[in-house]
Amino acid sequence: MGTITPVAQVDPIEISGAIITYASLANYDLIKEKNININDIVEIQRRGDVIPHIEKVVTKISSGYILAPTHCPSCHTPLIQENKFLKCPNISKCPSQILGSLRLFCDTLEIKGISDKTIAKLYQLNLVKLPGDFYNLKVSDFENIAGLGNKSGTNIVNEIQSKKNLTLKQILDAAIIPNFSSQRIIQLINAGFNTPEKILNITVAQLEALSGIQITLAEKIYQGIQDRKDFIQSILNNIVIVKPKTINQESKIFGKNFAVTGDLSVPRKVLEEKIISLGGKLASSVTSNTNYLITNESESNSSKFKNAKKLGIKIISESEFNQLAE
Ligand SMILES: [Zn+2]
Repeated sequence: MGTITPVAQVDPIEISGAIITYASLANYDLIKEKNININDIVEIQRRGDVIPHIEKVVTKISSGYILAPTHCPSCHTPLIQENKFLKCPNISKCPSQILGSLRLFCDTLEIKGISDKTIAKLYQLNLVKLPGDFYNLKVSDFENIAGLGNKSGTNIVNEIQSKKNLTLKQILDAAIIPNFSSQRIIQLINAGFNTPEKILNITVAQLEALSGIQITLAEKIYQGIQDRKDFIQSILNNIVIVKPKTINQESKIFGKNFAVTGDLSVPRKVLEEKIISLGGKLASSVTSNTNYLITNESESNSSKFKNAKKLGIKIISESEFNQLAE
C-alpha cells in the first residue's frame, strides 16, 4: 500500500557541500510533535548522504501545525492510518503507486537506462499502463519522448527485450506484490505452488497452512496477489517462463547467512535477490548465526551494525560482497 510521506520544501541552503531544497518530515506524528507549519523557520540536519531532516522549529511564523491530508494526493481515495503512517489503499488504480511499481519492475529486472521521468511520460501517453507493456515498446516510442535519441531508445528496447526469459520467481518479484517478499515467494514455490496458475489461484487457507504464515499475513499476501493480478498477467503475456538455474553449491555465498544495513549503490531488493539466487540466506537482524553483515558504512548506529561489532560478525562492503559472489 502506498505510504504518504510528508516532505518539506525549504528555501535553498547549503549543507556540507550540497544545496538543500527538501527535508524529510518522516510522518505526521512528527509534524504535530514538533509543531511545524508552513513558513516556520526550522533547523535542518543532514547525516551522511541521507535526505536531511527537520530538527526543530527555530522561529514560529504560522500558528499550529500542518494537518494531515484526508485523501490521496494522487488518486483522491480516502487515506487509512496504519501505525504512524497514512496509506492509500487504492493499490491497483492509484497512479502514484502504479508508477512506483513500474519503476520497481525495471529495477527488479535490472532494466537499465529508463529514468523516472521516462516512465512517467510513457504512462501519461498510455504506452505503459502495466509492466508487460514495456515489452511492446518500439525505438520510435522513445524517440517521440522529448530528449531521447535513437541510440538511447535502441539501448533501452534491447535492455527490455533481453529480460524476456524469466523464472516464476522473477515474474512474481517483478510484479511488486504487496506483502509478498522474495523469501515468501521462494517458500511458496518450494511448497509446490510452482506455476503461475497455482499462485494466481492460491487460497488464504492454503497460505495459512504454510509454516510461519499466520492468518493476517496469509490474508495480506492473498489480497496482494488479487490486487496485482493484471500486473502478473501482463508480464506472463509477454515473456517465456524458464526453469531456474541450479545453484552452484561451491559458491562462497551458498548456505551463508547475510544481513544488510544502510544505503547501497543498487536498490536493496536487487542485492537481496542476488544473495538468495546464489543460495545465501537473509535475515532481518544480526545474530550469532550471521556470517556476514553487508554495509557501505564504516560506522553506524543501526542495531545490525552494533550487534555485528558486539558479536564479532564479519562486516563487508557491497563491493567485497560482489567479489565473494564472483
Ligand atoms: Zn492513491
